[in-house]
Amino acid sequence: MKSRLLDLLACYTCGSPLRLHPYATAPDGEIAEGYLECEKCREKHPIIHGVPRVLPEPFRTDLRLRYPDFFQKYPDDFPAPPGAPAKTWAPSREVADMYAYGWSKFTEAWAEFRREFLHVVDPPLTRDSFRDKLILDAGCGQGRFSRFMLEFGAREVVAFDLGEQVDTAHQHNLQGFSNSHVLQADIYHIPLKAEFDLAISIGVLHHLPDPEGGFRSVTGRVRPGGAVFAWVYGWSPIIRMLQLLRKITRRIPRRALFHLAVVPTAVLHILNLVYALLDRLPRTRRLARRVPLRQYSDRSFRGKHWIMFDHLSVPIIHFYREGDLEGWLRRAGLRNIVVTERYKGQQGSSWRGYGEK
Ligand SMILES: [Zn+2]
Repeated sequence: MKSRLLDLLACYTCGSPLRLHPYATAPDGEIAEGYLECEKCREKHPIIHGVPRVLPEPFRTDLRLRYPDFFQKYPDDFPAPPGAPAKTWAPSREVADMYAYGWSKFTEAWAEFRREFLHVVDPPLTRDSFRDKLILDAGCGQGRFSRFMLEFGAREVVAFDLGEQVDTAHQHNLQGFSNSHVLQADIYHIPLKAEFDLAISIGVLHHLPDPEGGFRSVTGRVRPGGAVFAWVYGWSPIIRMLQLLRKITRRIPRRALFHLAVVPTAVLHILNLVYALLDRLPRTRRLARRVPLRQYSDRSFRGKHWIMFDHLSVPIIHFYREGDLEGWLRRAGLRNIVVTERYKGQQGSSWRGYGEK
């Protein structure tokens, strides 16, 4: 954790500043271990492996199971509560668990992810939209989108997520940027001031128990005149089929599902090869347009493997129809709203929304 992050942090309960108590500093000057304490509530939030974990209950107690070494090391500041800690089964924590596992298997910020990012945000955003901005990445996963925004010239990026994928983001994709910050936090209790020029949430809100509530919370961290961008899944028959399959695959242990997902990945890959073949010849080009899921043709096999694992294992997915996202933006009181459809008219379409505060 960089001490500069303190200027942006605020208690999610009372809005007061958080005070830093460092235990250990890394060679690069970042705080490796320590804790943050609300000046008013006196609630303590640990900094573990260089990442502050500013979480409400039950996620705060849950940290003891995830990082037992830290809590054993500092019993004076973090005395053990009576009784054995129990695992939290909050729905959003289950989603975070799945992504923490998934992103530990897919840590790369591939070139195809960068292409995907620009394809998701454009329109209305382009790579120049991030330049010199203070940006919030709500639901950062392994940090690839934050990394791209920093590469496109963002002034500073704060990336947060609910689970241990923040460790992947911190150690793999955001390491070495002097203007990046990683935080473990809950989207419904974001411990940050309302100072951001731009907040983005890509592929996150549709996995929440209350997606619109999450969107509103993210919007709450944007300064007046700042902007919000969100991307959510659309509804289509092929997605409906995948949902039926997911009812079964969700129950398969994650490790096994990771390997099993290679089978539908191969099917998708073959569909994409058929499309590429038909698209090459003028006579079959019209037929090529009828091959489903052709939008994945430019992905690597491994990139498709990630998509399949994601779709078959995630505990919660909501799908949206035309007008849904616009409703969120309007009810949040945003102006200059732009909602567009990605992959318009195709199977697996989706929605992107932008609005200004
Ligand atoms: Zn407080």
